This record gives sequence, structure tokens and C-alpha cells, in this order.
Amino acid sequence: MGIPQTIAEMSRALHGGQVSSVELTRALLERVQRSQPALNAFVTVTAEEALAEAAAADRRLAAGERGPLLGVPMAHKDIFCTRDVLTTCGSRMLANFVAPYDATAVARLRAAGMVMLGKLNMDEFAMGSSNETSHFGPVANPWDLKRVPGGSSGGSAAAVAARLVPGATATDTGGSIRQPAALCGVTGLKPTYGRVSRYGMIAFASSLDQGGVITLTAEDSALMLSAMAGYDERDSTSVDMPVPDYAAGLERPLAGLRIGLLKEFFDKGLDPAIEAPLRAAIAELQAQGATLHEVSLPNLPLSVPTYYVVAPAECSSNLARFDGVRFGYRCENPRDLKDLYERSRGEGFGAEVKRRIMTGTYVLSAGYYDAYYLKAQRVRQLIANDFARAFAQVDLLVGPTTPTVAFELGVKDDNPVTMYLNDIYTIGANLAGLPALSLPCGFAHGLPAGMQFIGPQFSEERLLNVAHRYQRVTDWHLRAPPGYAS
Ligand code: GLN
Repeated sequence: MGIPQTIAEMSRALHGGQVSSVELTRALLERVQRSQPALNAFVTVTAEEALAEAAAADRRLAAGERGPLLGVPMAHKDIFCTRDVLTTCGSRMLANFVAPYDATAVARLRAAGMVMLGKLNMDEFAMGSSNETSHFGPVANPWDLKRVPGGSSGGSAAAVAARLVPGATATDTGGSIRQPAALCGVTGLKPTYGRVSRYGMIAFASSLDQGGVITLTAEDSALMLSAMAGYDERDSTSVDMPVPDYAAGLERPLAGLRIGLLKEFFDKGLDPAIEAPLRAAIAELQAQGATLHEVSLPNLPLSVPTYYVVAPAECSSNLARFDGVRFGYRCENPRDLKDLYERSRGEGFGAEVKRRIMTGTYVLSAGYYDAYYLKAQRVRQLIANDFARAFAQVDLLVGPTTPTVAFELGVKDDNPVTMYLNDIYTIGANLAGLPALSLPCGFAHGLPAGMQFIGPQFSEERLLNVAHRYQRVTDWHLRAPPGYAS
């Protein structure tokens, strides 16, 4: 029997006794090993622990326990703390950090019986859109090894696209779940801010960071999110609201759904080769009964500059703890305390992280706080107000996830601004704390193109429902990159 592709299919095969968790885990570990030289999706592979966890899952299944994730292999973005396992955040700063505890999201998926195969590569401290800022080297896009997988969750997206794992955790501060999902042709969900606990998720920009999932299908995202989400007393910004069974509402018909076409997302920056399949995908939603309305969010074009004030400001504060004394890499033979701080931070952080810390320190400094940080906070509120007005008229917004398909490794890494513009369509949702989902809607230039839905707070169920209804009648999400089919 071939290896099932999705979490739902694996779960059926596990419960039906057609395959054991140990067999599945062994088969996927073999793929991971084989793919590693070309893709570099993993920072750490925990083969032995995975086989032990799989054997434990098989015992639970044999004892009659049921659960949609029980025994299904997965992997975590290396930003999530995993007990007794290396947790690097893609940085030299944490290259030998073994976490003493599990992040809440990790603990919950573990309790649900998922089997962790290892930790996934990422941009350093989740700062980047191409995975090229990782201390452990870039990840390649399985659709074209010369191209980037996107970032910062590039390892998560590449691993799912290459069928190394059916699902992975990821985080999204300005697009890091949706942009790599789009560039790798997989499904990625960034939940509402506060829906998934940030406890044990290494902080980048705390008012924007949100954990979520990358999978092949919306159904699989629903299954993982149902286990991960929910209140956590250890994260003061996690929201105390019941978690629905996200899989229960997947089949709801689209009749009566009001979709807003985001005018600002169809501007001149969008590659027409992406617009064509996207328009066809939207027509498919209309064919299922949704109505289309053009919506304008006039302040949305300000989201990139706003983000590049707020996110660096927060990162400069969050990353102050990595100084070689409290946390992180320590330089060799420091002359004195000042030398120890300077060289530990100078040697431990890469160029992009330093650029952000410097920008953040500048915008928070006494003379510039009002001109930059305070102003950015005001514009952030205007953007959130634009979204609130839009959601008085429509149920969700639709647009592209990225302006272009995956670009070649090395072409944008010398110009931060061109790199930052990759996230032009994703950042708005983070600034407003909204849930958003990217799913494959076709191909442009032979590479995957993504469609994005953005919804009001806590509308994950609706986003997953609409994505699922689209995936029932299309197969873009099941097309594997050549050479990586199951
Ligand atoms: N690419 C964006 C950045 O570099 C977003 C990163 C993220 O979402 N973690 O900040």
C-alpha cells in the first residue's frame, strides 16, 4: 500500500488497521533523510524519539483509543520549544539550546498523539520571507530547487509540500505561514491573534506573533487547530473562548456567503499570471452560491511601512535577553563585560536580525518615538478600522497571498525593501489580529499560486469551511511536486 497523503487519510488507515504508526513513521523518516541534502527542511531529526512515540500511539490505538491525530507523524517549526530537543529558532544564538519544556501547542499535539519527526528550518528568529536568513542554510522549494520556499516557515511549507510530513506547525507575524504555504502549493492557516497560546513559542513581535498550521488540506488544518487552540493561563494574551470542533462545519454550503474582493490587492504589483487562476478560483466560489462585492481598505497600502516600525520595535525589546549572560551564545574569551555583550550579540545574531534590532531601537528612542512608533500604532488602528468596516458588509475578504510566485535563491537577499514587499498582502491581517488562510488555486509560470481568505476575529471555522468547499471540487492542493509524489 502507498503512503496516504493527508492527515485524514492517515488517520483512517491507522484506525482501520491498514498501517501502524511505527510503519508510517519509519516510511516518512526515510523520506526525510533522503530529501535532506536537496531541501534542508529540517534542522533536527528526532528519529529514535519518533519511533518510540509511534509505538506508544500504536499501543493507544490497540487499546481502542480514537482520535483524528493519534499516531499521525508531524514536525514543528524550530521556534517552538520542545522538551529535551534542540530548539534553535534558526539562529547561531540558540544553536545549542535544548528546551527544558514543551510549548503549549507542542504539548497539546503530543497529548493528541501526534508523532514528532523533528524540528523544521526557518528564517532566523522568524525574520525573513525566503528562509535565507537561517543560520542552518536556506531551504529549497521542492517545486524548483533553485527557488526559495518562502519564509519564515519555509521548512514547514517545504516539508509538507514534499510529503515528508502531512502537517507542521508554523508561526505568522507578518505572513510567515501564508506566504511560504502559497509559494510551496500547500494550505496554511494563521489563526486570530490569541487563539493559539504563544507560551514556549520564541518571541519575535509579541503583538503580532501567532502560531498556526501548514497542511495539504483545509480539513487537516481543522483537525490540527482543534487540538492546538484554546486558552492557556501561561499566555496572558490567549483568549478564553471555547474552541469549536473546526472539522464539524467544513461541509456547510456557500449559498449566501458574501465575499469581498480586496481592491487594493489587485493593484499593479500583482503578477497577471497569478491573477488569472485566482479569478477562476473566485468564480468557482460564486458558482457555489457566494456573492462577490468589491471592497476597498484605503489604509491597507500603509501596512508594510507600519509593520516595519512595530515589528522591529518589539523585536528589539524581545531579543534583548539574548546577551550571552541570561540566554544564548557566549563569545570566547571576553576581555570584559562590555566585550562579552558586544561580541556575544555581534557573533550570535545574523545580519537581518541586527538590522531589525537597530531599526527597533531607533524608532523607540526618546527623540523618535512620537515620529515613528506612536505614528505607526495610530496607522495600525486605522488599518484595523478599515477591516472592521469591511466586515460589516462581507463575511470574508479574498485576494492573492503573494504578488509573485517563488523567486530564485539569492536574488532578493541584498535588498531588504524588495524582500519586505513580499508580504504586502499578508501583513494587514497581523496588524489587525485577524485569521487568514492561504490555499493553492492553480499555477503561474509552472509554480504554485495562492489564494488568501481573511475573516473577522474568530472566523477560522468559516475560512476552513470555504477552503474545504473549494478543495472538494479542485485538486491543486493534492498535486505533489515532481519527484515527491507518494
Ligand atoms: N517576512 C516577514 C518578516 O520578515 C514576516 C515574518 C513572519 O511572519 N514571522 O518580518
